[in-house]
Amino acid sequence: MSTSQASQKEPSKKKIQAIRGMNDLLPNQSALWQYVEGQVQALMRRYGYAEIRTPIIEQTALFKRSIGEVTDIVEKEMYTFDDRNGDSLTLRPEGTASCVRAAMEHGLLHNQTQRLWYQGPMFRHERPQKGRYRQFHQVGVEAFGLAGPDIDAETILLSARLWKALGLYQHVSLELNSLGSAEARAAYRDTLVAYFEAHYETLDEDSRRRLTSNPMRILDSKNPAMSEILDAAPRLMDHLDDASRTHFEQLCALLDAAGIDYVINPRLVRGLDYYGRTVFEWTTTALGSQGTVCAGGRYDGLVEQLGGKPTPAVGFALGLERLVLLLETLALVPDSARDELDVYLLPMDESATTPALLLGERLREALPALRVQLHCGGGSFKSRIKKADRSGARLALLLGEDELAEGNVTLKFLREAREQQRLPQAGLVEHLTPLLKGEPFA
Ligand code: ATP
Ligand code: MG
Repeated sequence: MSTSQASQKEPSKKKIQAIRGMNDLLPNQSALWQYVEGQVQALMRRYGYAEIRTPIIEQTALFKRSIGEVTDIVEKEMYTFDDRNGDSLTLRPEGTASCVRAAMEHGLLHNQTQRLWYQGPMFRHERPQKGRYRQFHQVGVEAFGLAGPDIDAETILLSARLWKALGLYQHVSLELNSLGSAEARAAYRDTLVAYFEAHYETLDEDSRRRLTSNPMRILDSKNPAMSEILDAAPRLMDHLDDASRTHFEQLCALLDAAGIDYVINPRLVRGLDYYGRTVFEWTTTALGSQGTVCAGGRYDGLVEQLGGKPTPAVGFALGLERLVLLLETLALVPDSARDELDVYLLPMDESATTPALLLGERLREALPALRVQLHCGGGSFKSRIKKADRSGARLALLLGEDELAEGNVTLKFLREAREQQRLPQAGLVEHLTPLLKGEPFA
């Protein structure tokens, strides 16, 4: 090898890896994700929500104008770049802004209500850790054109039903607060700033910075050194406007009627500027500090803020990675979320290749739910059996010289200590049917 070739090859030896905080979803995880996604889809259908899919890139201005210039997301977490035309674009850090943009752009909000949901990757440049990534996936729900507490209650009930479907309900708790009207919030803000100024010495650096930019976010601080002054801080709940107070009381009454437990958390403020009135979070103690699984609230001002007509709206977003982590942590992954093969179909020699291929097709034709994998690639008897064992299938169907001569197939149990059976191929479908139904196997 000449030196020039060597030096050309040198750099390519270093393997290129994924971007930090951005995960590959590997085959052994995909069944669990599909299970969760399937539950989500079924749920949305049952509540009459329609899916909307929007691009993962939008004009940067969309997020600045909706999420707010002085929020963590816009200040330090967005993936923003100039494209080749010099336009400033951003990988979406959340779904609501895009959803509003699309609904407005396509006239979905003209004198009508909309119940929409979306799912997909979001991007935030945060410090990667368990449950916190730079590309993560959210499922979100947005309802437009409905101002009353009934729709707030519906979105909360919808999320509660998802926890129930996944077996998570007793492992999450609902926190609720009201942020009141924009006017009530502005007045409260002044009260709060005055309070924090009086306790300036106790504020950490982050909170001092927020005192001028976004004082309500100080309430969100997890710094234990500040917990005392935060607990004693004036509460927005005590400064609500009458309409917001009534809205909140009615929401609470609806949740009571539906038997949904909640805790009112006066310090719950959420990190996005567009929220007003209802805000809520579903949290868990099982995931450490990444304990918020789902969060949302009302954002009646956002459509107008983005150039549309005043349109009441409420929604939430849940983090799929955290949901999946929670299911794993609590060992709540059902067997149906493990994509295991039912049958490994094994031609024992070359002469069995064609009959095995055809048998596989016949089985799939007759039993659409059956998961059959055909052994390909030949190999010695021993290596074929080893592949069958490693396939994870419950059963192996063996086709060799004897079986072919007799029109039979040998059924071998791969995960149970049971005698193997020789069966006529003609009766195979009837024989396998109970297996699929989870019935005891003959
Ligand atoms: P957190 O307080 O955990 O930072 P957030 O208030 O920034 O969450 P939202 O913007 O409300 O979160 O997003 C809704 C949900 O999306 C969160 O409750 C969480 O489940 C999920 N989520 C948000 N950021 C991330 C992330 N970086 N990685 C994984 N999931 C995330
Ligand atoms: Mg965050």
